[in-house]
This record gives sequence, C-alpha cells and structure tokens, in this order.
Amino acid sequence: MISSPRSPMSTPKNSPGHPSLTTDTKNDFADKVSEDKMKQLLTAQAFASAGGLIYIRTEPEFGFYQRSQQSQDYSYYGAAALSHEQVHKAGFTENLAYQRQLGVFDGFKNFFKSQALYGDLDAQIQQALKDNASH
Ligand SMILES: [Zn+2]
Repeated sequence: MISSPRSPMSTPKNSPGHPSLTTDTKNDFADKVSEDKMKQLLTAQAFASAGGLIYIRTEPEFGFYQRSQQSQDYSYYGAAALSHEQVHKAGFTENLAYQRQLGVFDGFKNFFKSQALYGDLDAQIQQALKDNASH
C-alpha cells in the first residue's frame, strides 16, 4: 500500500477531460473489506488486492494519478509506486515493497524536472522504508 505524499507542492484541479477509470473505493469495496481495512485503503494511493489485482485510486486529489496529469515527475513516482504494489501482488511485505520502490524511484532521478520534488519524495520513501524495517 502506498501512502499519499505529504506537503504537496501544488494543488492540481480535475480537468473536464479527466479520464474516468476511477475506482470509487468507498463504493467499490464497501462490502468486500472490513471497516478497518477501508480506513487503511482510503489513506492509500494504490493497493494490491489479495486476489492479485493492483488498484490505482484515481479520486484522491493528491494521489499520483491526478498529479501526473499536471506534472510528468509524478508519473515517475507512480511507476515506482506500482512496482511497490507488484511486490505485494507477489505476496511480499512492506519492507521488500519499499526497497523495490526506492530502487525504481532512484532510477528516475535524472528524469525529474524538479530535483526538489525528487528529494522530497525520495526522503518520504526512505522514511517509509525505515518505518517498515521489520514488516
Ligand atoms: Zn505497501
């Protein structure tokens, strides 16, 4: 599961031509997960289901999906986030998922237009890796 980045640098608005492959998480998963799990999902940007599907939440304004419509840099973040979910899909835990995410994310360093954003997101992933060192 990927948490939303903190301290966003700008607030992208939904454009009228916004594609609608939206997962309305609250409705789509209402009868499929526990109340606690739902709370967890609503803090995530993407998650992998037990059945092996990866869901990208398109409704959070600060998620990489919406932000990547405005900034290419967030598409790199999203690619790394999906690699994180791929690790869960294969049945592994947060620790390995964040390790993979960090490795993939760092591979995009030179593509970032904003090195400040790169540094900020990189620090967040490193923190998450530390926080999940034992799980
Ligand atoms: Zn995860």
